[in-house]
Amino acid sequence: MKPVGKPGKTGSLMAVEVALARLLEMADASKIREHERLPLAQVQGRVLAADLVSTLDLPPWPNSAMDGYALHLADWTGQPLVVSQKIFAGQAPEPLKPGTCARIFTGAPVPAGADCVEMQENAEVQADERVRFTETMNPGQNIRPQGQETTVGELILPVGTRLGAIEQGLAASLGCAELDVVRKVRVAVLSTGDELIEPGLALGPGQIYNSNRVLLCSWLQRLGCEVIDAGILPDDLATTRARLGELKDVDLILSTGGVSVGEADFLGIALREEGELTLWKLAIKPGKPLTFGHFRGVPVIGLPGNPASTLVTFALLARPYLLRRQGVKEVEPLKFQVPAGFVWPKAGNRREYLRGRLENGRAIIYGNQSSGVLRSAAWADGLVEVLEDRTLIEGDWVSFIPLSEVLS
Ligand code: AMP
Ligand code: MG
Repeated sequence: MKPVGKPGKTGSLMAVEVALARLLEMADASKIREHERLPLAQVQGRVLAADLVSTLDLPPWPNSAMDGYALHLADWTGQPLVVSQKIFAGQAPEPLKPGTCARIFTGAPVPAGADCVEMQENAEVQADERVRFTETMNPGQNIRPQGQETTVGELILPVGTRLGAIEQGLAASLGCAELDVVRKVRVAVLSTGDELIEPGLALGPGQIYNSNRVLLCSWLQRLGCEVIDAGILPDDLATTRARLGELKDVDLILSTGGVSVGEADFLGIALREEGELTLWKLAIKPGKPLTFGHFRGVPVIGLPGNPASTLVTFALLARPYLLRRQGVKEVEPLKFQVPAGFVWPKAGNRREYLRGRLENGRAIIYGNQSSGVLRSAAWADGLVEVLEDRTLIEGDWVSFIPLSEVLS
């Protein structure tokens, strides 16, 4: 296969949103169809494989929103009322005796015949134990009607919803003990580079520790993926080919490094020979070179090797791709506008994702924005987006993407 979209000269950079749209098209095309049924407690980070439809009205019966007294408003003439029953949450009440009220507690079913709950703060128990109400009351007050939250047959969570604590709670409130989720995406993580060694070993001349491997493996686990750690790949064609060939049963090979322009690019050669290679030069900083293709039919995404570049391109491109493969619709992270608390005097031709944080409502940035400096991201709590060809003075609006949005 011939390379497609080989990096051209500056000026032929691909906008981030164009690259994302293309990746998402390819993700749609290879969507994962298999699913599994899991206990509710185990679905955190997974994607719903079938619509969740309510089989219940919630609440199943009208219940009291307050500790107080249930009564039938028409029975109240301003005179104190006798308390004819006491209803706690979890009990089934008798119909309300005409001309009386019922002592009731929060969450308890409102008895048939009552149309109003008055809170106990507006009620006085007299010496004869009858209750005097001190304020005017309205029909329906302090009653949560049956089906207020959901009714039978209502769509509660659509297929493709990512499940977290809130969705688990909601499913539990509907009585679901298990949910159908898309099977885990199997992602093989490969770190390329002769210079890499694993932490714990002594650093030799010219070597650096592999930081991308644990960063990506840990992040992917949080995303609900099954991670296959494929180790370090030396800059060598035969090994590259052999290692890629071993990864037959995965949904994605995610590699870092080896995609810089000018470098002996063994990953690219292997893909070109036994699959397909698309090289994009993106208008993104840090980042720029991104490889997409497949090796013997297995999709491959090659991220740039500098740790901050790996982080940014994973967050903005690979993560949405992985979510879409599981059928998630909204895959782009939330971003919001904040005033810049820094100046940006020199416009660039690439969209910058600066590692920054919010301080007094303004975005400030880490001093060293080099793509090799992962410490910038540890200091940061978000990515500050500066568009192509933009300069900034303090107070100009910039987009801020919280890292918490993309890390899970
Ligand atoms: P490359 O894309 O292979 O040219 O790598 C770009 C830069 O990132 C080089 O300085 C590499 O040493 C560095 N790098 C590549 N992979 C890793 C990794 N897994 N961990 C830390 N640094 C890396
Ligand atoms: Mg390299």
